[in-house]
Amino acid sequence: MPKINMPDRAELHNHLGAAVDPPIMWSIAHSQGIRLPSKNYWDFEDLITIDVAEGYNSVAEVDKALFYWTELVQSSPEAVETSVKSVIGGGYRKCNIVIHELRFNPMNRNRSGEKDLDHIILAAIRGMDRAVQEYPQVKAGLILMMDRKFTFTQNEIILAKALKYKNRGIVGLDIAGPQVQGFKLTRLYPLFRQAKKSGLGLTIHTGEEGNLREMRDLVKVIRPERIGHGFLAWQDQHLMKELARQKTVLELCPTSNLRCGVIKSVAAMKEIYQTLYKNGVKLTINTDGPEMYRTNLFKERQFLVDQGIFNSKQIDEFNRNAMKATFIK
Ligand SMILES: [Zn+2]
Repeated sequence: MPKINMPDRAELHNHLGAAVDPPIMWSIAHSQGIRLPSKNYWDFEDLITIDVAEGYNSVAEVDKALFYWTELVQSSPEAVETSVKSVIGGGYRKCNIVIHELRFNPMNRNRSGEKDLDHIILAAIRGMDRAVQEYPQVKAGLILMMDRKFTFTQNEIILAKALKYKNRGIVGLDIAGPQVQGFKLTRLYPLFRQAKKSGLGLTIHTGEEGNLREMRDLVKVIRPERIGHGFLAWQDQHLMKELARQKTVLELCPTSNLRCGVIKSVAAMKEIYQTLYKNGVKLTINTDGPEMYRTNLFKERQFLVDQGIFNSKQIDEFNRNAMKATFIK
C-alpha cells in the first residue's frame, strides 16, 4: 500500500525482541558468529515467529521458545543498533508509523554482564537517532524494561539507566517477563514512584494473564499512565470504572493475545475488547512485535474490522488515543 493512502499511525507497544525482520536477524546472528540450532534460514524464520497454529498457552512458553533466541542474537551493541534502526525505519515504510515507541530490556542483551550496559543502551539510542535521521517524519522513543524474574537490585539498575539517559531518548519504564512464582509487583512500587516523579512515562505489563489482584492494586496505588495489555480488567466493573476515571490507556495487542494463547478465541476477544470499550476504557491498538507475530498495525486494523470487533471509526479513535498517550515529547 503506498504511503499516500495511509494515515499517520502511532505504535506504543513494540518489543525489540519481537520486532526485527527475520532476514536481518539472520544476518546479525551470522555477523556475530552465533551458534544457531539450524543452518537453514527457513528453520530460523520458523524459530523466531509464531503462526496461528502453533498453540502456545502462556507468555512463559513464548519467552522460552522465541525470546531466548531473539535476545541472544541481539546481545551486543552492534546488534542492538542495527535492530533498533531497522524497526523504526521499517515501521515508517510499511505502516506510516510516525510516533514509534520501542521497548527492550538492556540486561537481557548484555550476555549476563559480559557486555557493558551503557554500551548497549547508547547503541540503541544511536540506532534510533540514525533511523530518525533517515526518516525525519518519525518521532521515536525507547522504553527500558525491567523483568519479573530479576532481583530488586537488577531492576533498580535498569531504572537508574533509564533516568541517566532520559534526556537522550529514553522516554519510559516498563516491567515485562513471564509470571514468576512468589513475585510481588508491590515491591517495585518505590521504583515506579521514582520514575514518575522524575518525569519518565510509566507503562506496566499486567492484566494479561494471572489474576487481577496485581492490576487492581497498581491502578489504585501507582496510577500508571498506561498499562501493557490489561484486558483482564473486563471481568471487573469497578476496575474498568477506575481506569475510565483516571483515563488510563490500555495498550491492546490483538494478534499477540491470540498467538500467545492468553485469549483463546476471536469470539472471546470480541467480548473482552467490546466490554472494555463500552465501559469507557481508553484503548490503543499495538502489535507487541510485528515480526514475531507476523503482523503490523495495518493488518491489526484489517483483522479487527473483518472480525467485527471494532469498526474503522473506532480504530481511528484508538489511533488518536495513542497519539495523545505517547511518552515522546
Ligand atoms: Zn508486551
